[in-house]
Amino acid sequence: MIPPRNEFELINSIRENAKMHPGLVLGIGDDTAIFETLSQKKCLITADMLMEGVHFILDERPAYLVGRKSLAVNISDIASMAGKPLLAVISIALPKSRANNFVEELYQGIFDLAEEFEISIAGGDTNTWNGPVVINVTLVGEEHPNGSVLRSGAQPGDWIMTTGAFGNSLAGRHYSFQPRVQEALRLQDEYDLHSMIDVSDGLSADLYHILEESKVGAILDASQIPIHEDVTIAQDSRNPLEHALGDGEDFELLFTLSPENGKRLLENPMFDAKVSHIGMITGKQENLIRMEDGETVPLLKTGWEHSS
Ligand code: ADP
Ligand code: MG
Repeated sequence: MIPPRNEFELINSIRENAKMHPGLVLGIGDDTAIFETLSQKKCLITADMLMEGVHFILDERPAYLVGRKSLAVNISDIASMAGKPLLAVISIALPKSRANNFVEELYQGIFDLAEEFEISIAGGDTNTWNGPVVINVTLVGEEHPNGSVLRSGAQPGDWIMTTGAFGNSLAGRHYSFQPRVQEALRLQDEYDLHSMIDVSDGLSADLYHILEESKVGAILDASQIPIHEDVTIAQDSRNPLEHALGDGEDFELLFTLSPENGKRLLENPMFDAKVSHIGMITGKQENLIRMEDGETVPLLKTGWEHSS
């Protein structure tokens, strides 16, 4: 990408580099893009905005990773519905002081991930101001043929399962994570998933979202929670389980399904990402965690309630 000199050159350069995947009839350059839905499938639509100073600090991370993350968090939302991402619309507010190579790097992060997931960049908006960098990505996806997986479908008796491992994503994974699109598609191909969410706020807080929407409770098994090796390099006094339950931005899938299907899934691995059975949905609206010593204590959005 040639470093652009002004807004028009910037848009032109984005236009030249943005790939068009099937369905996108008209891309960047007109007043709107035109997209042809290739089937009767329903569309999924989501947006996430990242703000400098709140969601990222540019002195710490290169613009490439910030661009990548701005798209990746949206892909993860489509994955959590078991959908397939199709096209993105990207709006950016840029400080006048930012050098051209900043935008180039930012967009390279977006383009590389878009290419990997065959997402078309269909358009956007570009403004400059004296404030910090703000990036909003709107992502459109396609519903899975077997339907979308909502937060509200968890049923008493369901197994609670996860992909991957949790804790201390701040070590770097919160920028470099791989959205679980393929895993979610495969799961929804083979199993009747009852509910699903991607873990952004934290394993415990996001489980609460499922429980509240489904009007059920849960009991987790502390010994089964997959803890990421990154927690060993965490610079604070919290223990590994506290990190796994509370940190967030792991962008793994948290889902529920019947015990029969849960067992079948554990016995027949479908992909490389580790799948764990971490607990069970209950009919009582009470959220608990069984600790390693066998004691059962209330599960909080941030972790658990210490008994002493
Ligand atoms: P308009 O004044 O009609 O909104 P713009 O000059 O804002 O047109 O945009 C021109 C074209 O460039 C449009 O197709 C728009 O979607 C696209 N575009 C503008 N900014 C971006 C961006 N940051 N990323 C991708 N496409 C963009
Ligand atoms: Mg515009």
